[in-house]
Amino acid sequence: MAAAAPLLFASATTQAQSARNAVAAGPYPTRAWGVTETAGKFAPMTIQRRALGDNDVLLDILYAGICHSDVHTARGDWGAPGLPCVPGHEIVGRVVAVGRNVTKFRVGDVGGVGCMVDACGSCENCLADREQICVNGTTFTYDSPDKVSGGHTLGGYSERIVVTEKFVIRIPPGMDLRATAPILCAGITTFSPIRHWGVVPGQRVAVVGLGGLGHMAVKLAVAQRADVTVLTTTPGKIAAARAMGASAAYLWQDAQARPELRNHFDLMISTVPYAFEAEPFMQMLKLDSTFVNVGLGEARGINPAAMAFGRKSLAGSMIGGIAETQEVIDHCFARHIYPDVEVIRPEQIDAAYQRVVGKDVRFRFVIEFASS
Ligand SMILES: [Zn+2]
Ligand SMILES: [Zn+2]
Repeated sequence: MAAAAPLLFASATTQAQSARNAVAAGPYPTRAWGVTETAGKFAPMTIQRRALGDNDVLLDILYAGICHSDVHTARGDWGAPGLPCVPGHEIVGRVVAVGRNVTKFRVGDVGGVGCMVDACGSCENCLADREQICVNGTTFTYDSPDKVSGGHTLGGYSERIVVTEKFVIRIPPGMDLRATAPILCAGITTFSPIRHWGVVPGQRVAVVGLGGLGHMAVKLAVAQRADVTVLTTTPGKIAAARAMGASAAYLWQDAQARPELRNHFDLMISTVPYAFEAEPFMQMLKLDSTFVNVGLGEARGINPAAMAFGRKSLAGSMIGGIAETQEVIDHCFARHIYPDVEVIRPEQIDAAYQRVVGKDVRFRFVIEFASS
């Protein structure tokens, strides 16, 4: 009899959960916006979200950010994407159904989904909370082999998504949901290196590129009370950098001509999403300091001798694990750190992409689905 009580309890819980679920167990035909050819125009389409598994959460998507990676993928800059291609890996949604084993969420909660939706959970990287570099292959939120449903994953430019609860981030009640989505990629991508390289108050941090990632890097480093300098190619962003708390901001060319910036920075974070000449920036690093490339642009023209003489490091960093993503959400909520967003409707995705490529965004587009 001792064993029967928990079983009865589990059964009652399951019944209560299914009673709370606002919708059936699926699968779920879902309205999405994607491209059916590489670099094509975005159009509405119907995709299938899988039936709710025992550990799954169904989200009604409220907002999805537009990341530069979305643009690269949809336009084939990194190779032809799987088609149709539905990008979007900065997702905030309302929980409308939970599987029978789900404990982290209840119907009505708000959840977030970032750049990944699954990983093996047992490799050394997963066990170290580094699911973004799972040895057996992270399942990214879009354009990634879908190990559950087959085909490739379809992202957040859609009205619903089903994700296993471990990969859904808790969004605290009271958070500004319109501006939360970009924290799930732009925020974690810049938070992780600031944490990993241990930025402390007073250190000199340079942020190269002031776009979606760069402006989050500035806000997060300023909140860490670092002395932040922005290096940009856009004259109009100098004032914006200062308004975010940077103590200095320069155009790249101007900065490279300034002798006082040589051997100056404790950490440099490059968010530049295209190839660039890295050597002038390496010269700005102090002894034993690191240039971290999070923008995935090719860093060209490195001089090994110059790096050796300053014992300088060139490093990369890619998003962050699930625990760290929860940490950056809680960190931003507690300190009122939010990206600057421009909210658009799904019909405006093509126009927004043009403006992202033209560096005409302050500083992140967020698609609102309630308006579609
Ligand atoms: Zn991204
Ligand atoms: Zn793994």
